[in-house]
This record gives sequence, structure tokens and C-alpha cells, in this order.
Amino acid sequence: MLRITAVAPGSLGAELGLGPGDELLAINGRELADFLDWEFLAADDAFILGVRTAAGEAVEFDIERPEDLPLGVTLEPPKIRRCSNRCDFCFVDGNPGTARKTLFIRDDDYRLSFRHGNFATLSNLKGKDVRRILEYRLSPLYVSVHATDADVRRRLLRNPKAPAILEQLAMFAAGGIQFHAQIVLVPGVNDGVVLERSLADLYAMGEAVLTVSLVPVALTTFSRHELVRSPTRGGASAALATLRAWERRARAERGAGWVYGSDELYLLAGEPFPPAGDYDGFPQVENGVGAVRYLEGLIAAELETLPAMPFRRVLVCTGTAMGALMPEVFPALEAATGAAFELVVLENTYFGSSVTTAGLLPGADFRRALADRGDCSLALLPAESVNDDGIFVDDVPLATLVAEAPMPVRLSYHFTDALGSAA
Ligand code: SF4
Repeated sequence: MLRITAVAPGSLGAELGLGPGDELLAINGRELADFLDWEFLAADDAFILGVRTAAGEAVEFDIERPEDLPLGVTLEPPKIRRCSNRCDFCFVDGNPGTARKTLFIRDDDYRLSFRHGNFATLSNLKGKDVRRILEYRLSPLYVSVHATDADVRRRLLRNPKAPAILEQLAMFAAGGIQFHAQIVLVPGVNDGVVLERSLADLYAMGEAVLTVSLVPVALTTFSRHELVRSPTRGGASAALATLRAWERRARAERGAGWVYGSDELYLLAGEPFPPAGDYDGFPQVENGVGAVRYLEGLIAAELETLPAMPFRRVLVCTGTAMGALMPEVFPALEAATGAAFELVVLENTYFGSSVTTAGLLPGADFRRALADRGDCSLALLPAESVNDDGIFVDDVPLATLVAEAPMPVRLSYHFTDALGSAA
């Protein structure tokens, strides 16, 4: 059963008289368990929809849908599938006790892997999940492989029952499913020869494995350091050397790099990011792979459309990962807008300085950075540092910060999105 929270005006749902609180029960007699059933079963032009109205009345609609008429129905958010692993490096263990509640959810959900590109281990799949992935062709899936050796992977996931990932991937690949894989590199566990073998196994799967990313394990002050070592500069360089050998081969044989390092891996190794073209369209940018080059491209593309701004001085807050890039783009922004840009690189005092991404900066760090900066006429904060409800990782509401700040505050993904409407 799926509960409706909103219906768009002019949509098929509105035409049927559906409204918030109504429950979608079945399509053509097939029970609706979640949003996937709804999206796939309601994709036909004609179907019979069983509904229980908010008033408790059972109704059946015989629907013939005009091609261009959207269903327009917003559903209650799905209940997230929980993880059956206990990785030593789990981000949940790295949270301070006061972190935003949702950061304590160990989610591992193949449905969100398909819909939003969240990485899933596939270790909690039941028979009916496997059947749905194949029936609905949920492709591509984003899979945390980590290691193709089943024993090493079980040790990494702390899950002795985790299925052998290569067999799982092969079974899905036979059904036409493709994958983007990630390998979180844990020093001494899945680097070195294990990494070499994992890449060889994944490459041997051919077209089924679209891309692979290498990401150094991210630990915070609170992580279980007695169980997992921090990545080192030498380890990151060695992983990049392995990556480059496979990348060269993939480029020669398949015309694309296939395996990519996250920005964190390059920063850790102290090596420059590859040029934008080497990311082949940024297939894993959401995973921090090529994010800096991607941002550069966005800014460059939109510079010419920026209006002159009434702001004299713009304060730009970011984390240490992006901090290195910003000075490179400021001169062009200043020339385009006439404003002066000042960078504030914030070290994460909440998770610890090893956490460099802007998205995990706490509200308290921004508060400190903005206080007493009444000399600035605008502050830009990374949009990814708040969730959909406008709450920072440390549970500080954006609204509180905005009310306290001595200047207007805007959220921004890539500057130009927040500056375009500034005039
Ligand atoms: S798969 Fe591992 S890292 Fe991800 S939520 Fe589960 S325990 Fe945490």
C-alpha cells in the first residue's frame, strides 16, 4: 500500500479525484509494495487501479491514460532498507552523538541505488528483491564491491553471510543489468594484490561493469581507529598507480577510462587531478569522483551569463577539499560580477580535520565563520551541507544561522547558481 501526500493540479491523479491520504493498493490486481511497483506498473497506457480513499472507501479506476498526461502523484517516502553489515569503517560509527538523526541510519537499499545512485552492497537481497531487479530491469545499479574475493569482502563488511559478489553480479548481468562499482580502499585489507584482482575480475565482466571508482576510506575522529587504519599518502599513490595501468588498458581497448579515482584519493596522494576530459562525462561525480573538475566546468560555462552584482564583498565558505580550487576560479568570477570574493576554508571541528568535504561541515563552523563579518555583503555556503529540511549535520537549522548572520546568506552548488539572481 502506498499513501499519497500530494497530487499535482492538471495531472491524471487530479482528474481521478485522488488526494492526500488516499492509499494506492493495486494495479491490475498486483499489490503495490513501494514506489518501484507504482512507477513500473503504472507505466502502461491502460490499467485498473485499486484505491482506498482517505475516508475508507474502496474504489477501482479503469484507466486509459493519454500519453502526455503525468500521473502527478507524490507518495510518502519509502521505508529505507537497513544494512545487514557491520563495516569497521562505517560512517555511522564515525558520527558524534549529537549528529543529525538521519546520519545514524545504516541504509543499504537497491531501490535507492537504482533511483538515486546510492551505493548498495546487495548483501541484504531476498529472493523477491532479485526477481524485481530482473523483472523491472533496475539498471544501472550502484554497487559497493570493495573486493571481489568473497572472503576479503565478508571481512570488510563484517558479514559472514554476504553472498559472493562476483556470482551475484554475473547473475544480474545475465539478466541485462549493468553496474557502477565502487571500491572503498581500506589499508592492508583490500589494497595491493587484492585491489589488482578486484579490478581484473570486474574488467573481465565486460560491458556489465560500466565504471569503477576507487575511494580512500573516510574516517572521522570518532571512527573505530583500533579496527581500521587511516589511509596514507604512499597507499594512495600506489592505488593510483594500479588505477592508471587499468585506465590505460581500458582507454585503448574500450575507448574510456573505466576506472576513476575520487578527488580525495588524489588529494591524499598529493597528486594533481586529471583534466576534465579524463573523467569521460563524470559518471561517478556524485561519489566525489571528478567533483572539482566538474565544478570548474560549470562555473566556466555560466560565467558569461552572470549579471553585475550590487554586492561589494562575497564570502565563500567551503571545506578543505575544495579550498584548493577556489582561488583559481575567483579572478574570473570577480571580472564577471564586479564583486570581490573572499575564501574561508573551514576545517571540520565536528567530525575532525580528516573529513574534508564541504557537505559534512557543521552549522556551528559556518556560524563562527560568519560572525563579525558584517563587512561582507553576501555569504555563500555549500548547498550540500544541509539536508532537504534545511538542517546541518550537527542539527543546527539553516534558518537559525540565516537569522543570526550579519549578511544575506545563500546556498550554492557552484557559485553561479546563487549569483545569477543576485542583481
Ligand atoms: S554497508 Fe557498511 S558502511 Fe554501509 S551502512 Fe552498512 S555497515 Fe555502514
